[in-house]
Amino acid sequence: MAESRAINFGAGPCALPHSVLEEASKSLLNFNGTGIGIAEISHRSKEFGQVISEFESLIREQLQVPSTHVVLFSQGGGTGQFSSIVLNLLARHRLLYPSLSPEERYLDYVVTGSWSKSAADEAKRLGGGNVKVVVDSRESSKDGKSFDNIPTHDKYEFSKNPAVVYYCENETVQGVQFDVDPSSSTSFPYHLLPKDDPDLTSPLIPLVADYSSSFMSRPIPRLADHAVIFAGAQKNIGPAGLTVMIVRKDCIVDVDAAAKLGAAPVPKILSYKTLYDGKNVPNTPATISLYISKLVLQDMKEKGGLQYFGELSKIKAKKVYDALKRGEDKGGVFEGKIKEGNGRSLMNVVFGINGEGAEARFLEGAERRGLKGLKGHRSVGGIRVSLYNALSEKDADTLVQYMDEFVEAEQA
Ligand code: PLP
Repeated sequence: MAESRAINFGAGPCALPHSVLEEASKSLLNFNGTGIGIAEISHRSKEFGQVISEFESLIREQLQVPSTHVVLFSQGGGTGQFSSIVLNLLARHRLLYPSLSPEERYLDYVVTGSWSKSAADEAKRLGGGNVKVVVDSRESSKDGKSFDNIPTHDKYEFSKNPAVVYYCENETVQGVQFDVDPSSSTSFPYHLLPKDDPDLTSPLIPLVADYSSSFMSRPIPRLADHAVIFAGAQKNIGPAGLTVMIVRKDCIVDVDAAAKLGAAPVPKILSYKTLYDGKNVPNTPATISLYISKLVLQDMKEKGGLQYFGELSKIKAKKVYDALKRGEDKGGVFEGKIKEGNGRSLMNVVFGINGEGAEARFLEGAERRGLKGLKGHRSVGGIRVSLYNALSEKDADTLVQYMDEFVEAEQA
């Protein structure tokens, strides 16, 4: 089975570990000796309950989630969280500060790419607060209109006492990512977050991070300082259909009590309290996605966990960026979209190919070699190489060899 498979560099849904898929395919017919397939088993069965609790433990253990935070699951993807966050955190803000007007309830958005922009747009659409784009990286871009950098720390100015401070850790479409090294100018500026206001009662910053395309690829810096971290499963950990949220307990609020004070009513299934009270099964969850994601996390743990995958990501990305540089230096065949030092992503390497018909030639040649999923996002074009956990160093080497050969052929 493994021999006939392509190398899938797609941005998600994307490659998953072969061994996991083999085990999952057996479980499709008979899960854990129950005689019932994993797609057929009740989400309330003892056996499935075990899957859920193991999945949660694997996340908690590998990311070292503190007891101040809970791990929640839902459907609705990252896009669902764009709405849930606004509704739940505005409800929290309402309970803390009942008398503020919507104009005085700030939702601070750090916009560094398409996904954080979409999240800010959704917050504006939902209303109930004053959405402030605290940074828009297009303003510090080379051409004044591209998301091609992580802004330096002097660019951020957060509101006092905001309801939300939002950022996207890795922008999948453009390939920009915050650095984990706090001394780097492209790390998230945690030190600039609004300080406690002695006149107000909440000491906890409502920091929200979209980790959809970098979740479980390396340890999360300052995890405990986040109010909500969320990720769709369909990049590093499993099939689409499952969303994981790590939520600080003070953000699990009684949304109905907030609505009585004037906050927007929150659809029951979007309320973090519903998920928490229902022990992550208030309704039918994405059973297959949960099961396969659990297998992936087990596999990760066996291979060395986040330290191992963090190092592997750096190695794979360096190889691809080096090949990109060689292609840039040799007659400008390639053209990286994000310059070194500007927050280049370890997960998604985005570049253009110069020359009439060259991009199509690159993609056709890749296809012939079984290298798939390389076409860039429709909004930015070019090539996108997604290097999620399931891809090995050897997979990256195969691509790099092809990139070098392509450059030579274009030059001939
Ligand atoms: N955020 C990021 C960083 C993403 O990459 C994506 C999807 O690719 C989303 C949010 C939206 O996720 P979903 O398609 O699960 O709604």
